[in-house]
Amino acid sequence: MALRSSSATAEAAGTLVSGDVRRHNLSIVARYLLENGPSSRSQIADGTGLTRGSVTALAAVLLDAAIIHEASPENARGKGRPLTLLSLAADHVAILALQLDADRVTGFLTTITGEPLLRIAEQHGRPMGQPEPVLDVMASVLGRTLDACQDLGRRLADMTVVVFAPVGGEPPVVIADTDLGWGAVDVLGGLRQREPRMPPDAALLPDAPLAASAELVRLKDTLDMIYLKSNSGIGGAIILNGTVVEGAHRLAGAFGHVPLVPDGEPCGCGQRGCLVTVAGPDAVLHAAGLGPLLVAGGLEAALDELTDRVLAGEPLALAAWDGAAGWIARALQILAMSIDPQAIVLGGYWARLADSVARRFADIRPPTWPDAARMATVVVAGRLDGDAALLGAVWSARDRLLLDPLRISI
Ligand SMILES: [Zn+2]
Repeated sequence: MALRSSSATAEAAGTLVSGDVRRHNLSIVARYLLENGPSSRSQIADGTGLTRGSVTALAAVLLDAAIIHEASPENARGKGRPLTLLSLAADHVAILALQLDADRVTGFLTTITGEPLLRIAEQHGRPMGQPEPVLDVMASVLGRTLDACQDLGRRLADMTVVVFAPVGGEPPVVIADTDLGWGAVDVLGGLRQREPRMPPDAALLPDAPLAASAELVRLKDTLDMIYLKSNSGIGGAIILNGTVVEGAHRLAGAFGHVPLVPDGEPCGCGQRGCLVTVAGPDAVLHAAGLGPLLVAGGLEAALDELTDRVLAGEPLALAAWDGAAGWIARALQILAMSIDPQAIVLGGYWARLADSVARRFADIRPPTWPDAARMATVVVAGRLDGDAALLGAVWSARDRLLLDPLRISI
């Protein structure tokens, strides 16, 4: 990524006051160190277009605030004066993502660069239609994560609560979701009541757009992407020109409720024949004879078993998945025609089965389009497994903090 100082042009245009320019240039230095690792002042100057003098002054500010630190390289002997390398540190702060999915609550604490410090997970037992006991588990995991953060001598610089359900309103709440039988739930309010140490500016975000953003980072040269995942239900996100499309009501990407089957089975959303009714985890697990394991072992264990059986060619699982994959491919065909993405990324348990969906999708795409190979949308497996949303939350927090590095020290 090309990072260039905008100070000269901004000052010339009089559009930024000097404080804004300095903040922007501090951000450029911090961002350079994040993307390139430990670097000398002259490397930063060459890489960013800032002058050597500016880099020296900006580095002094960041060193002072303990956002970066400096160290001599180990292998510089005998080759003149060793370079002093700067690297991103901020050892006094941490980023927290607290994720609720249909099975468990996970607390994930990282450094400012996104390096994991701690992970705590606890099953909530899926009490359908009862948010209170789920909030109890969330608050317990949050409390233990905050204790650990304190024991590590770090202050929380950013916290995001990631949920499996759509979020809306101001302050934001979970709108509703069929996976846990929830109506509107004030997750942040419930947590704050139980754990008063929760930062007042904690954010509440749905998992799919965060997961999509994280997967996008891993795809080369891709700006237009559709992300679909299945674990507790079917969710997704649309990314156009590198930005998540939220929609007028923040409901864009609700692909599980694309109605595919005319006069199909009733869906929890009130429509009939939604994708989730024919390709959702419950439908596929029951068709594969894994209903009893779903009840006894939980969703994750049942989906792991299903995927293993499909990949091993077990006939009942294969037939169940084959039926679902046909509907998924059809949904992808509609989405590809509507949005024309470069890539469709499949996450959740669909990631391990992405090849079979890609084949079905290729079979039903229009073969007579001119230049069809060049214009094809590729269907690929997500690479981040179950961690995509957690990593997306941490990486976006990191990017936010590095926009104004001195705020990290406040
Ligand atoms: Zn529906």
